[in-house]
Amino acid sequence: MKENRLKEKLTRFLSREGADLVGYAPVDLWDQTNPGWSAFSPRLVWPPARTVVVFGMAMPLPIVETTPSAYHMELYKSCNRELDRLALKAVRYLFNMEVAASFFPRDGFGSIKYLQYKPFAAFDHRAAAYFAGLGTMGWNNSILTARYGPRVRFVSLFLEDPLSPDPILKDELCLQCRLCIDLCPCEALEAPTGKAAVVFHREACRQWHEKLTAQRRYPCGICIKVCPVGDDRRIYGAEKRSGVYLRENQALQQGSSDSLYRSWKHARSWGSE
Ligand code: SF4
Ligand code: SF4
Repeated sequence: MKENRLKEKLTRFLSREGADLVGYAPVDLWDQTNPGWSAFSPRLVWPPARTVVVFGMAMPLPIVETTPSAYHMELYKSCNRELDRLALKAVRYLFNMEVAASFFPRDGFGSIKYLQYKPFAAFDHRAAAYFAGLGTMGWNNSILTARYGPRVRFVSLFLEDPLSPDPILKDELCLQCRLCIDLCPCEALEAPTGKAAVVFHREACRQWHEKLTAQRRYPCGICIKVCPVGDDRRIYGAEKRSGVYLRENQALQQGSSDSLYRSWKHARSWGSE
């Protein structure tokens, strides 16, 4: 099948089945950049791969805002399951068109415990999303997209066919506002200094997640919730909410009657520890 026709068909299929964002990246890009990312080249997962097709599903802001809660945990799990289900379905769809493909699942690690010794999965979907032009890295260590900010999760397909790539975004989307850094509950993020990149204290974040997992209200995702980037904020009428987030802990301690705080408190009070 001609490459443009295949790209068009696959994009239509993924969008129809529930993908909110779809992008295409050539595998060669992994070997041409950052050594951290080349160590997780798609070819190490599946040697014949020549194109990565990465697709994302959005996490609705009103539910993300309730984090940490069982409510948010259920959304997170559903989103992961949906992504894996669609990736498998896409591989079978391609196979039936005589196109060889594989995929890497959403998470690819056994449990939070193992991340202490092996902090990465065998493939990083953030690199795929960046190379496929879906977003840029933010100070919160996540991919930011124009449409959903960081409130979108990704999964990746590997194709043997060399499909035409999408351009990498030229402009950084991160506003460097520091909200993610200032509101992280365990100081896991540090702003870049000079030419150095943002520092992510992976183990501090992991330990926090271990606690939340035991309480059945993981993941944390506060750095995802508070990020001001994304059209979803306008659509949900939540564009100017940084002050609300900055006052949140104090307002909850003081038993604020504000309807937004009350709804988050309600969500966190039920369904988990
Ligand atoms: S997920 Fe939570 S603990 Fe981890 S960096 Fe983000 S805000 Fe901090
Ligand atoms: S919260 Fe601000 S600093 Fe953090 S990733 Fe979003 S835009 Fe960047």
